[in-house]
Amino acid sequence: MSSTILDGKKLSEKMREEMKRDIAFLQDKTGKFPTLATILVGENPSSKTYVNMKVKSCGAIGMGSKKIHLPEETTTEKLLSVIDELNSDPSINGILLQHPSPPQVDERKAFDRILPEKDVDGVTTLSFGQLSMGEKTFYPCTPYGIILLLEEYNIPFKGKNAVVVGRSPILGKPMAMLLLEKNCTVTICHSHTQNLPEIVRTADIIVGAVGRPEFIKGDWIKEGAVVVDAGYNEGNVGDIDLPGASLKSSFHTPVPGGVGPMTITVLLKQTLDSFKAQIQS
Ligand code: NAP
Repeated sequence: MSSTILDGKKLSEKMREEMKRDIAFLQDKTGKFPTLATILVGENPSSKTYVNMKVKSCGAIGMGSKKIHLPEETTTEKLLSVIDELNSDPSINGILLQHPSPPQVDERKAFDRILPEKDVDGVTTLSFGQLSMGEKTFYPCTPYGIILLLEEYNIPFKGKNAVVVGRSPILGKPMAMLLLEKNCTVTICHSHTQNLPEIVRTADIIVGAVGRPEFIKGDWIKEGAVVVDAGYNEGNVGDIDLPGASLKSSFHTPVPGGVGPMTITVLLKQTLDSFKAQIQS
């Protein structure tokens, strides 16, 4: 069976073009444009790269950005006061606090300080609660990007067995909730799961979100399954053995160019949605 590539790069480009047109139109009409604030605490090189990519992506579609870089020794109190300022600034539509924060920072407390209407990265406890209750909210960007990508290729969800390997608050857990919302029968696996290969073999849709290179093996994949590799490890390698998996799958995301580009695109989309809600109110 030949496996169709779920092209996240292509869908991202299409969505970003649409957003660019939308922003130009709204700016013409209102004289305003959406703005994303990014907060980076410390000097983590990967985090710096991610923040720079997000800021650059804003600029490319005509979205404003405000980049805040705080020193490594920043306290939780200081970070909370920065978030409070951004919360009360009407020119800011979305706030992104780059994960991970240094260990002295209470990151959960900081995430939860972000106003729900500016939580465009979907990181607050409230947004996870609303997602779990099936209410409208901003979603965590990577799992929502995966859903949009699967929808683009008309992948059926209803009644399908979905297996999510990984249960992190930003990826695995919300992924499982979104698949449940789509009426999949969902199994969540983690480091204490027994007989993982057997469970993965039941999956019509498998999402790898483990953070270990090629951890999920090609021979665990059921014939015809849809394979989504959310992992990103050194050397452009995902969490799934994609060459092996794509011998069996019907569709699969490549690494890179699958899930990765969708994450920033959803961040931009949700910032634009927040802006639209603001100008309509
Ligand atoms: P994480 O917070 O480290 O979580 C990893 C999860 O994998 C945990 O739930 C852990 O289980 C589970 N796990 C570890 N070893 C396992 C094993 N032997 N069997 C089954 N499950 C196991 O990682 P994350 O932040 O969710 O990221 C996961 C991957 O996605 C990484 O490769 C990361 O780079 C990538 N990622 C990509 C994007 C993007 O934009 N493309 C965004 C975010 C993350 P326990 O809970 O039991 O420890």
